[in-house]
This record gives sequence, C-alpha cells and structure tokens, in this order.
Amino acid sequence: MSGTKNAKISIVVPCYNEEESIPLFLSRITTVAADMPSVDLELIFVDDGSTDRSLEVMRSLAKDNPQVRYISFSRNFGKEAALLAGLEASTGDFVAVMDADLQHPPELLPQMYMGIVDEGFDCVATRRVNRKGEPPIRSFFSKRFYRLTNRISQTEIVDGATDYRLMTRQMVDAILSLKEYNRFSKGLFSWVGFSTKWIEFQNAPRIAGSTKWNFWQLFLYSLDGIVAFSVRPLAISSFFGMLFCLIAILGAVFIVVRWLVLGDPVQGWASTVCIILFVGGIQLFCAGILGQYVAKSYLEAKGRPVYIVKEKSAEDSQNA
Ligand code: UDP
Ligand code: MG
Repeated sequence: MSGTKNAKISIVVPCYNEEESIPLFLSRITTVAADMPSVDLELIFVDDGSTDRSLEVMRSLAKDNPQVRYISFSRNFGKEAALLAGLEASTGDFVAVMDADLQHPPELLPQMYMGIVDEGFDCVATRRVNRKGEPPIRSFFSKRFYRLTNRISQTEIVDGATDYRLMTRQMVDAILSLKEYNRFSKGLFSWVGFSTKWIEFQNAPRIAGSTKWNFWQLFLYSLDGIVAFSVRPLAISSFFGMLFCLIAILGAVFIVVRWLVLGDPVQGWASTVCIILFVGGIQLFCAGILGQYVAKSYLEAKGRPVYIVKEKSAEDSQNA
C-alpha cells in the first residue's frame, strides 16, 4: 500500500453446490463495497467440486466482472481445502473469509475493516451469539465440543466462533506457512496468534440451497479438531493405564488378605467377567485414541496435496 493507492481486500468464498447463492452473494457484497470507496475488492470463489451449475455461474460472473476470480477443484476436497486454495490465491492487503450462503452478513465488513485499520488489530473475527435455525441436538453437541477442546488443548477455540473473519496479509502469510495436511482452520487461526477483535452477530438462516454437513460429519470434524491441536488424549490414555495397574495391585492385596482370613471359596465369577470386559473396553478405547494419531501421521507422511485444481479464471491461468 503506498500513497493514494487504495487498499485491497480479498474475499475468499468456498462454494459447494451454491449455484443459487453465488449471484445473491455477489450483489450483496457489491452493495457493501460501494460504501467503502477507499477499498478495492477482489472476490475469489472456490468451487469445491460442485455437482450443480456453480462453476458455470462463476465463469459467467468472472467474464462480466473484473473483480471476480475463481478456482475450481477436480472433486470435492472439503471446505478446509477450499479455504486454503482461496488464501493462497489471494493478493489483497487484507483477506476476508466468508460463506457463500450469506449466513455471514457482508454488512459487517466495513466495521471489521475499521477494527484493523483504525484500532490496530491484526484480525477481526466473528462470533454467533445465537444458534437460531440449528437443530437443538447440534447446538448441544457443539457446546460440549468447545468445552472439551478448550479443556484439553492449549489452543483456545472460542465458542460460537465462525470462519468469517478479516485478516492482515501478515496473518494470512503466517497461516499459509503452516503446511499441515489435516487442516482445522478454527484452530490454525488461533494458533498463529496475533491480536484478534471479536464482534458478535445474530445467526441468519441460509439464503438458498442446503447445509453440506450432517451430524456425523460434524462429529468427525470435531474429532479432527481435537486430534490436530492436542496430544492430551494420549496422556489421558496413559493415565487410564496407570490407574488400572494401581487398582489391580490394590485388588491383589485385598484378595490375598481375604484368602488368609477367610480361606478360598470359589465365587464371584460374574464380577470377574465384568472386570475383564471393562478393562478390555478401556484398552480398545485407548488403542483407538492412539490409532487416531497414527492415522493422522500416516496422512501427513504421504504428503499429498490438499487440493487439485482443474480450472481457474482467465487471469489466474495466465499467471500460473
Ligand atoms: N463448503 C465447501 N465444501 C464442502 C462443504 C461446504 O466449500 O465440502 C462451503 C459451502 O458452500 C458454504 C460454506 O462452506 O459456503 C459453509 O457450508 P454450509 O453453509 O453448508 O455449513 P453451515 O453454515 O451449515 O455450517
Ligand atoms: Mg451455512
């Protein structure tokens, strides 16, 4: 940024089957940008292997609108991969990440920009203060997830934090310097540090289309989050191991004393079976925890790319 040149904000928008939302998104964000004359906008739509007409919509918008760029994946790689591709492609002095479904109100952008430029924060992030329009069971489990992760991991993940945020180029470069394959953005944003201002907003229902996550996917995603940011579950399983050794020693002492005092009538096989099953269960549980880390290391060791690009907007293809 020098002299009178406008600052540039890149907006990264991951899209998976969002053909209806994309044009609505563009018109809302254009309205917001009109109120920010000192800012140039760059929109990067990342088509995450959509099976609907999302890519065609992007192509035609990019043709008519010089601010619009797009990247299209060869298949669905997941939102985390789409975010990474968008951040890597971004050229702005500031970069925002926003969902295509308008659940992240573009109208907050000027306020977020002020937070960085006037108040000196490196990042302005958003929190949802309510979870309206979400099934209660999903809210319940998300709350538990935030409690649990924050208790067992050193990286704090704010309850209700969304991926909607505006960051400085410096912070984006820091995030891009983390080369891991298993990416859990909420954790990465927090791990890189930098000062973050939180602003709150009311959850808005999706503008069109439907959510891409079912309960099971969210559950697995939350496990990824825990495994990616904490090795404490391994320590917890070692603790269980030691606890059970201790119980076994105390049990042995108890049995010997009882034998000396009362003799040895054969009884109690039912409780023995319960104990064997219980201990066996704990062993499998701990082996499972270990397995999670081994599996993640295996995926990291393969060093595969996080995403594969099939098509890019014209100017990007020339640069590439
Ligand atoms: N998304 C994506 N790839 C996926 C799933 C979702 O790029 O595999 C995008 C989706 O198009 C949307 C954003 O991620 O822009 C958030 O997804 P969604 O609205 O379905 O999630 P929710 O808001 O219900 O948590
Ligand atoms: Mg959504």
